[in-house]
Amino acid sequence: MDLRANVIEAIGQTPLIKLKHASDATGCAIYGKAEFMNPGGSVKDRAALSIIEDAIRRGALKPGGLIVEGTAGNTGIGLALVANALGFGTVIVIPDTQSQEKKDLLRLQGAELIEVPAVPYSDPNNYVKLSGRLAEKLAKQHPAGAIWANQFDNIANRQGHIDTTGPEIWDQTNGAIDGFVCAVGTGGTLAGVGMALKARNSNVKIAIADPFGAALYSFYTKGELSSSGSSITEGIGQGRITANLQDAPVDCAYQISDEEALPIVFDLAEHEGLLLGGSSGINVAGAIRLAKDLGPGHTIVTILCDSGARYQSKLFNLEFLRSKNLPQPEWLQRKVSVSA
Ligand code: PMP
Repeated sequence: MDLRANVIEAIGQTPLIKLKHASDATGCAIYGKAEFMNPGGSVKDRAALSIIEDAIRRGALKPGGLIVEGTAGNTGIGLALVANALGFGTVIVIPDTQSQEKKDLLRLQGAELIEVPAVPYSDPNNYVKLSGRLAEKLAKQHPAGAIWANQFDNIANRQGHIDTTGPEIWDQTNGAIDGFVCAVGTGGTLAGVGMALKARNSNVKIAIADPFGAALYSFYTKGELSSSGSSITEGIGQGRITANLQDAPVDCAYQISDEEALPIVFDLAEHEGLLLGGSSGINVAGAIRLAKDLGPGHTIVTILCDSGARYQSKLFNLEFLRSKNLPQPEWLQRKVSVSA
């Protein structure tokens, strides 16, 4: 019997899936942690649950209270589902550049959605800063109060990964893991899993896969935050050292272009039945780079963050890809003819 008291108990304990092509190409065993199988469809369910549980424990979040957050989408989806299950409300500030699919999902979950122009973090009207100010206002106005989830600088986020994702990966590999690699949005996953694995074996290599347009590759290789280029991937690409990233045990860094990541996403869908979002492509590309650096015979784990179904209008839209001069999935262009 495997019964859960509520949806929250269905968060986590996701399988590790062997990635065949990546493994065959490198002589390593490369596994993806299937975070798209969480009830909210992404790795961010874990952070959302950890942040809400921490706020309840501290007495900051009271029955019927509001949870306010600035999010590219997945954290909001996770917060909304945990909030709905526990009787809280959700207010989400989202940059208008994020996919329609994620915005629609948030609305379906009953979250109040505030779309704002996408401006850099240095701008006072950046969505993260706006959500912080809104939370302060609502904390005073709403009868049951409000909290700011503050996923970037609230280390309850990475604690969720120290407590769950990292130990799960360790147990699932029986401790026979040589490397872990993933991209960074808040840094909760990288820092949390990295810390949990290093505490069990300090020789496990922890690597960051950074998209173009983010500043962390330059930080971890040269000690300075600087960026160039851009990426169509969503939910990742950080320009600063968030509180969650502080003291993250990062051994090496890879910079991954969309041109490198997208063919991997398309190949995983066509040949391995894994329809994933763009950040998973950056992650698997990073795992392949780490495998090549470590050499054959090693075991490497990365994160399959969310599903490609969340990005039909961009990542799997031929017109969009052509307009950006990006690789296009061959199977989407193929005309299938079936005769009776
Ligand atoms: N991939 C996707 C699709 C995401 O939404 C996020 C979270 N923003 C990440 C990766 C990165 O996770 P983290 O915030 O733990 O760094």
